[in-house]
Amino acid sequence: MTLVDHATDSRTSALEDAHAQLAEAVAGLGYDEGTHAMLSKSRRELTVSIPLRRDDGSIEVLTGYRVQHNISRGPAKGGLRYSPAVTLDEVRALAMWMTWKCALLDVPYGGAKGGVAFDPRQYSTAELERITRRYTSEILPIIGPQQDIPAPDIGTDERTMAWIMDTYSVSQGHTVPGVVTGKPLSLGGSLGRASATSRGVVHIAKAALKSRGIAVSGATAAVQGFGKVGRDGARFLADEGALVVAISDQYGAIHSASGIDIAALSAHVDVTGSVVGFGDADVLGADDLLELDVDVLVPAAVEGVIHAGNAGKVRARIIVEGANGPTSRDADAILASNGVLVAPDILANAGGVIVSYFEWVQANQSYRWEARDVEARLEERMLAAWASVNELARTHDLTLRAAATRLAVSRVTEAHRLRGLYP
Ligand code: GLU
Repeated sequence: MTLVDHATDSRTSALEDAHAQLAEAVAGLGYDEGTHAMLSKSRRELTVSIPLRRDDGSIEVLTGYRVQHNISRGPAKGGLRYSPAVTLDEVRALAMWMTWKCALLDVPYGGAKGGVAFDPRQYSTAELERITRRYTSEILPIIGPQQDIPAPDIGTDERTMAWIMDTYSVSQGHTVPGVVTGKPLSLGGSLGRASATSRGVVHIAKAALKSRGIAVSGATAAVQGFGKVGRDGARFLADEGALVVAISDQYGAIHSASGIDIAALSAHVDVTGSVVGFGDADVLGADDLLELDVDVLVPAAVEGVIHAGNAGKVRARIIVEGANGPTSRDADAILASNGVLVAPDILANAGGVIVSYFEWVQANQSYRWEARDVEARLEERMLAAWASVNELARTHDLTLRAAATRLAVSRVTEAHRLRGLYP
């Protein structure tokens, strides 16, 4: 195929990518247009205004969203994102991917996502608390442990989840730990939840390396992002004996051919807030990280970073998607024709929602599981999904993303079929 060097403005949006992936799955499964329409539309979308009194007394009005894409397999489930890039269309795409992720990993949820369009780094802790509580009270009618269960995503954390749980609980008159996941341990969070996405990414990275006949020990890796997913992902990869040769964050990238000392880098980031300036490594252009000659590339930041304009320059053997939607549709085709194995987001980063499910089960049972139970069950589910996706890809000559999406879409459609259409 011909490689087109697209300009930045020719990049596809997350929603266009999500719709194209669904259309391909629907065509492959031979579903009719009506079924396609049901799967492509969000079940519910709520846009809310969040008036905020700033610390200086001025008033600002932020916009927030909660989208429930599908609830046929269970309550809606998905993270809450605080970022200036949040739009309704982005939240729609992320909610749809959550539906497929939950179905693929066979956790009994539908898919949802929430977002508030602002930069949390520009706001005080007190302001963040007011934003979170007001957003929660605005979406209160559609969330709940049996309706829709938020969790952390970009720009939110366990403290945010504690505020949501408290606001929801106050409205109910009693404590409802099952309304969110990713809570602090002391409020009913699960052991192993904080690092679950990263653990899952590394389970998939190891399985992918094995499938390509590359030993984990000594394999080279580059990690884009040093946040909730990338940081522990880099650590676990290094623990497995891989050489993490490059790491980036939103401020820049660093490189060391002999491998970066992740513990030392973490200590540096705790003090300075960025990987930039880490003594034991060279400076690297942030985009150059994506083009390094490594065994595994882990994009663990935001959507659309690998696109038609740079996919042809990717030299990694394997991409393991820690972020949601890091590879565009156009890029997917180029990577496939260049023989790059892409472990798709809905499989590779599903560790977070798997342990969210475990946390919700523990909340509903009021019973805490041991860390070893959480970790063993997480690994079991990740590897079972890896095996089913690979089997479908092999027997139908599909990319792993096409196979994963097809499998997930067929499970959601089966739930629709069994439930029937009301009225
Ligand atoms: N935000 C995470 C994701 O995109 C976790 C969602 C959850 O645990 O509900 O998968």
